[in-house]
Amino acid sequence: MSAPDRIDELRRLIADADHAYYQLDAPSVPDAEYDRWMRELRELEATHPEFVTTDSPTQRVAGKPSSAFAEVRHAVPMLSLNNAFADDEVADFVRRIVEATGESEPAFSVEPKIDGLAITLRYEHGVLVQGATRGDGTTGEDVIANLRTIRAIPLALRVPAGLPVPEVLEVRGEVYMPKAAFERFNERAHAAGEKPLANPRNGAAGSLRQLDSRITAKRPLAFFAYGIGEVQGFGLPATHSVLLKSLAGFGLPLAPEVDVASGLDGVLAYYRRIGVARETLPYDIDGVVYKLDRRDLQEQMGFVARAPRWAIAHKFPAQEEVTSLEGIDVQVGRTGAITPVARLKAVRVAGVVVTNATLHNADQIARLDVRVGDTVVVRRAGDVIPEVARIVPERRPLAADGSPLHPAFVMPTTCPECGSAVERAEGESVMRCTGGLYCPAQRKQALIHFASRRAMDIEGLGERFVEDLVDFGYVQTVADLYRLTLDDLLAMKRRADARDGVTPETVKQGKIATRWAENLLGGIDQSRNTALERLLFALGIRDVGEATAKQLARWFGGLDALIAASVDELLAVPDVGPVVSARIHGFFAEAHNREVIAALRERGVQWLEGPPQRTAEGPLAGKTVVLTGGLSAFSRDEAGAHLEALGAKVAGSVSKKTSLVVAGEAAGSKLDKARELGIEVWDEAGLLDFLRAQGRIA
Ligand code: NAD
Repeated sequence: MSAPDRIDELRRLIADADHAYYQLDAPSVPDAEYDRWMRELRELEATHPEFVTTDSPTQRVAGKPSSAFAEVRHAVPMLSLNNAFADDEVADFVRRIVEATGESEPAFSVEPKIDGLAITLRYEHGVLVQGATRGDGTTGEDVIANLRTIRAIPLALRVPAGLPVPEVLEVRGEVYMPKAAFERFNERAHAAGEKPLANPRNGAAGSLRQLDSRITAKRPLAFFAYGIGEVQGFGLPATHSVLLKSLAGFGLPLAPEVDVASGLDGVLAYYRRIGVARETLPYDIDGVVYKLDRRDLQEQMGFVARAPRWAIAHKFPAQEEVTSLEGIDVQVGRTGAITPVARLKAVRVAGVVVTNATLHNADQIARLDVRVGDTVVVRRAGDVIPEVARIVPERRPLAADGSPLHPAFVMPTTCPECGSAVERAEGESVMRCTGGLYCPAQRKQALIHFASRRAMDIEGLGERFVEDLVDFGYVQTVADLYRLTLDDLLAMKRRADARDGVTPETVKQGKIATRWAENLLGGIDQSRNTALERLLFALGIRDVGEATAKQLARWFGGLDALIAASVDELLAVPDVGPVVSARIHGFFAEAHNREVIAALRERGVQWLEGPPQRTAEGPLAGKTVVLTGGLSAFSRDEAGAHLEALGAKVAGSVSKKTSLVVAGEAAGSKLDKARELGIEVWDEAGLLDFLRAQGRIA
């Protein structure tokens, strides 16, 4: 493409992005991409000065005022800042100042670059009379009604006693949305199914440009001052840093990080210090700003088209970048959680090359509406795992008929590691593999838990051996432990030593240490005889802890009865609610798990079984309850299971022995009989209240 064509193209791209960013408060591309366009345009214009026009985005402040607000002409223009992305650009900036002013170590006011919206506040005789956005730098929007809702902005200057009240003082600064407020806003938007804010900057801009200031008042915005515009009747201090202090003296908020530094080393040290603190600051910053401190020297340096020569913004590496999504993989974690992961065209984000980013879960994929082939915005803040923040919908590849080229992603119904069924518990967004005993992804975790002291209590089988047994392929499932031989263990040890590059003393002496292996085999052998409750706990069914394992063992007496139990039957067990009963049922429904249990039996693992003990415990112990009529919240069986779990005996007919009748919709003769006998009767609402109070239902 020829230079003028590319210049045209870049100007068009930038104009579109400006519109989305400044008018709609919804950026279409990340800042990093926008900044690259600007930089390329600036470079092209530098080599081809004949194509520079006054309306080029490099020559003016972007953002034209919206006609929805009255226009405000700025007495002193509101400029932008030149940007530096690397230390050598800062070095150039400092060098130019040294050369122009003759100062060898110039002092700078150093400030965080708050990522918000520039505004100007006009105080006349100490009273706030006007407030406006920057707009295109000469004309902004009158947003005083909205600015008045911001608590951090004083409606009148607090002039210290003895000082004259300035006739006119225009204060410039940044309106921003604190991170916490931004997150709260998006949580609420998410819950209400509304569109979230892309970032705190757009949150601030969008809130400030609301036509209804009651809406602005509900969004917690804040403000920091960083400069001045027109001033009358106020003797200005000689330096910018002292000027900021006087503004603070008038009650205007200053960012606590504001400081003074001298020379190139001083400003770069500040950059690194604030870079480290960045994540922990309660507001978003996208860099720091260095301003030549002496105001007489500022005047001497002057301005270029759209920015002062005496100041520069030193930007931090962008936390958002665009790239393309090449595929979606599904990963299985150690606990069986199934996570979709975006495979990305490599891109540098916040200083690190990113090729994978989490998509969290199926809900998130639906929310993002992300497909293979999409151009996506990847975000990485601090140490957080990179994530896909949003997509760029305009860049979705389309087929000839205009429909998306790639199909929507669907989560697998079976585990990609082991083929077991995948389940999603009610109210949870995470999907999990149910093959806990069989799935390779969960192998090590399952073995460590199985061998632990409160489970099968296999002495000598620590985490390290589990790692080696699995890594060298001696053990796939917990049942494989029971067919290990001395030779297996010794061979495994030799391979582990070779891998680690160690030669044990005994080997050097030409002997083989076997004691540890014999002990381990002894430990495994000893665990062959156990109790049912220990075995149940050892199986590692999610949410089945020791107490629940004990209840299950008591209630069912034997493993086969438990395996055969329906969800409703499981629900009758004390402490077992709907989620856990579904988990237990799902675990035993998975054939892979049942095969492992069969293998345990085959290899001589035994557990004590006994008769089921369903003697009642709980608040309904000793009571006989009859359910009659239709219930709407759940089936009668389910209700009965809840009551049994609380100790009740559930019977089919009403007699003198009946303690309580729960009567649902259209209850008939049983209800009549209960009334006749003077038996306590609850309606469905009464039952639900009771179950809720007992923590059985939510
Ligand atoms: P800028 O945001 O890079 O810098 C100037 C602004 O910095 C000032 O107007 C002021 O609001 C702010 N600022 C914060 N702290 C300050 C301080 N201590 N002292 C002085 N000013 C301070 O420049 P700009 O012209 O407002 O916007 C250009 C930038 O906006 C681009 O570099 C890009 O990152 C972003 N942008 C992005 C898109 C997009 O589509 N993603 C579009 C347009 C602009």
